[in-house]
Amino acid sequence: MRIRHLPDHLVNQIAAGEVIERPAAAVKELVENSIDADATQINVTIREGGKNYIQIQDNGIGMSPAELEACVERHATSKLPDDDLVHINHLGFRGEALPSIGSVSNLSIRSRASNAEDAWGIDVQSGQKSDPVPSAHPQGTTITVTDLFHTTPARLKFLKSERAEYGAVKDVLTRLAMAFPHIGFKLTHNDKTSFDYRPQTQDLLQSSLKRLSAILGQEFEHNSVPVSAEREGVTITGFAGLPTLSRGTSQYQFLFVNGRPVKDRLILGCVRAAYSDLLHRDRHPVVALFLDLAPEDVDVNVHPAKTEVRFKDAGLIRGLIISALKHALLEGGQVTSQTISTQALSSLRPQTISGPALPVSRASSYPRYSNLALKEDSAPFQGFDQDFMPSSKTEDIYEAIEDTFTHPLGAARAQLHENYIIAQTEKGLVIVDQHAAHERLVYEKFKTQFHGGKVESQGLLVPEIVDLDDTDIQNLLSQKDLLQKLGLDIEAFGQGSISIQSVPAILGHKINFSDLIRDLVDEFREHKTTHGLEEKVNHILSTMACHGSVRSGRRLNAQEMNTLLRNMEQTPNSGHCNHGRPTYIELDLTDIEKLFGRR
Ligand code: ADP
Ligand code: MG
Repeated sequence: MRIRHLPDHLVNQIAAGEVIERPAAAVKELVENSIDADATQINVTIREGGKNYIQIQDNGIGMSPAELEACVERHATSKLPDDDLVHINHLGFRGEALPSIGSVSNLSIRSRASNAEDAWGIDVQSGQKSDPVPSAHPQGTTITVTDLFHTTPARLKFLKSERAEYGAVKDVLTRLAMAFPHIGFKLTHNDKTSFDYRPQTQDLLQSSLKRLSAILGQEFEHNSVPVSAEREGVTITGFAGLPTLSRGTSQYQFLFVNGRPVKDRLILGCVRAAYSDLLHRDRHPVVALFLDLAPEDVDVNVHPAKTEVRFKDAGLIRGLIISALKHALLEGGQVTSQTISTQALSSLRPQTISGPALPVSRASSYPRYSNLALKEDSAPFQGFDQDFMPSSKTEDIYEAIEDTFTHPLGAARAQLHENYIIAQTEKGLVIVDQHAAHERLVYEKFKTQFHGGKVESQGLLVPEIVDLDDTDIQNLLSQKDLLQKLGLDIEAFGQGSISIQSVPAILGHKINFSDLIRDLVDEFREHKTTHGLEEKVNHILSTMACHGSVRSGRRLNAQEMNTLLRNMEQTPNSGHCNHGRPTYIELDLTDIEKLFGRR
């Protein structure tokens, strides 16, 4: 066997195997070229998921005949003017996209350079390029790719269904559209417009938000908080969806590094960590985050398709992202999701009742909750933290609460079904889920106590004995020190039991301890090794908070309700419970009036 130099077209085909693995990859490379060429409008037209036909049309700086000839040559690029692989300011730089695509398809380029009189074209058929020929084209470039992979049948075989390939093209283009809101992006598939995002003209932040909501839906605009932080020259900006806007998959997490869409595990991990406290494990937040840092601090050259990056100082990046997200969410924590109230409103829309009206007797047999709830003698809870809800009685409730309308969560007016507090605000009304709200309050208070040193603990007069199986006892006792710091003292007690000596004071002493212990046991069983200490602590606190909170079904008097509302206003993250469910929803008076046809 002899060593031989491979002919160019083969080298290009091999490179194409790496860079252009499917139609979406070709679209990505071509659209990135248009972006690098300063286009303000990019139109992408594909057929059969791009397998058959891809056309990219831009109004960028275009190419001269000489540039047309050069651009399809391997490693020819206008983007590395000074051999500097460190300061990469364009999306492209390898100079291999066009020759690679040309080697596995029929490629046709038409272009007119800025201020040039004439347009020119060049064709590449299976790696063979033609001479430039005069042609007709406005300023900018149109590149058409047909019969992709016809020279590499093996690759062709591995393409997925038309739908899947189309989905991948759409995903690629959507991510680029997020990163470049000032550029218009239009996608047409099989002659149908799939989207048409107009170029945004406001400042970057506003444009970015508008573009994101054009893509993710209006609800994102109203249910996200801006993220903005800087540390040692690294900046993070973007928008983080409120926990109540969460989705069932993590595919609505869009990450960009120096304007480049990436799918980076480090960053995804940071997002999960930042929300871990606010969302149930199988819910995922919606975020769009843009990380910008000096080109020398990030290596984008890890993979030819450039969706992975490597950071010089991963610790710095991690700390920055987590704290920026947590901070943003904290600020937004009291705002409950607007989507929820929109949902609530649409479900409240008056139904056209076609049947006979309800018989009077049935209607009037409904209990009058509002009166019930405001009765003076409603029994105060037992075992309930005084800080949250003093149970002292008020003389005249209406007088006492008149001035509380001005508070964000208003004045409590009624409790319905022993769980929902209805409060009147200046602009409308608020419905609070008392269990969810109280759970969040207890949890946040737990955390404050824990981070402030030690959780206050209260000894039990008679220790509680809980029977458990041996492994669970072992698991529990192995966490004894940690639990003690969290206010829970346990001891082994004979064979097959533990005794509880003292409990966190916040929980009161009327809760069901064996239920709590069993939940903790489950918690440990599930997360034996997977969590860091902080996450573990938060999970334990969250489990305990759930037990310590007012269960639904407890009747509250007006003052207790108002105390709960005031505490919510002062508590971070009080807009949602520990599982990401909202703790309250807000309805605007104008919306309510609309429901009744008054507006
Ligand atoms: P790279 O983008 O890595 O430089 P490509 O093979 O993708 O490599 O493109 C080669 C060159 O062709 C680019 O450097 C650029 O000068 C030119 N080019 C490609 N597409 C366009 C376009 N749409 N408008 C203007 N110039 C383009
Ligand atoms: Mg390129």
